Amino acid sequence: MATQKLILPYKSCKVVAGYKRPAYRSYWGYDHYGCDYVGVDSLDIIASGNGTVLTAGYDNNVGNTVCVLYPDVVNHKTGKTQSLIARYMHLASITVKVGQKLKAEDKIGVEGATGRGKWSSHLHIEFDTDTAWPNYSPQVAGSNLIKKGVDSTVNPSHLFHRGTGQSISNYGTPNYTIAGDWTLPALMIDSGGAGDTVPDAEFDALAKLYDSLLDDHKRLQVECDELAKSRDAKADEAAQIRKEIAALAANWPI
Ligand SMILES: [Zn+2]
Repeated sequence: MATQKLILPYKSCKVVAGYKRPAYRSYWGYDHYGCDYVGVDSLDIIASGNGTVLTAGYDNNVGNTVCVLYPDVVNHKTGKTQSLIARYMHLASITVKVGQKLKAEDKIGVEGATGRGKWSSHLHIEFDTDTAWPNYSPQVAGSNLIKKGVDSTVNPSHLFHRGTGQSISNYGTPNYTIAGDWTLPALMIDSGGAGDTVPDAEFDALAKLYDSLLDDHKRLQVECDELAKSRDAKADEAAQIRKEIAALAANWPI
């Protein structure tokens, strides 16, 4: 199975709000099921990898929306690979059509502030493991295009890598973001073009080492427990023998 690692949806952007931050919930009264970004220099929204456009149109609640299916996406936090739906909301304009095949960096649209909210220009993007229902979002109440769905979302910060020439920083909303939202692994295309990363390779090697050390630790722990048990048994035995000697000594005829 060919897996893919996703890149950021902008050449350069700032993260405004992360995934399910408690401060977001206490202010807005509901969870944030995606990440919010604003573009730096360019507001062009670009594809994060190989995908297919499943939905493209205007929603009464969240404005111009595009849903893209990205197959076999690697989650750099969990190591899991899953096919995911990405929902792009509030776009000023859409530059793709339903059925269109995308590759990384293809333009999807332009960041905007369309929809019912009084928000300023930003991209809300969410990733959903429920690929059978691309138009169902836990984020919004039912509308004409995007319907109210249950939560099967994934943190976008666990999926995005910094692609070639991409950069990301914090917008300056500390309670709405954590460092993990803007410190993303770099994706460096190797000579084979497989899209592997140096940091990930190092990470994999360290993870293997960690696992083998953990196995050693567990094995030694078992040995240590067994030795402790046999030491206790020997101590009991010794105590018993001492008792017998004392009893014999007490009855020794002098
Ligand atoms: Zn949002």
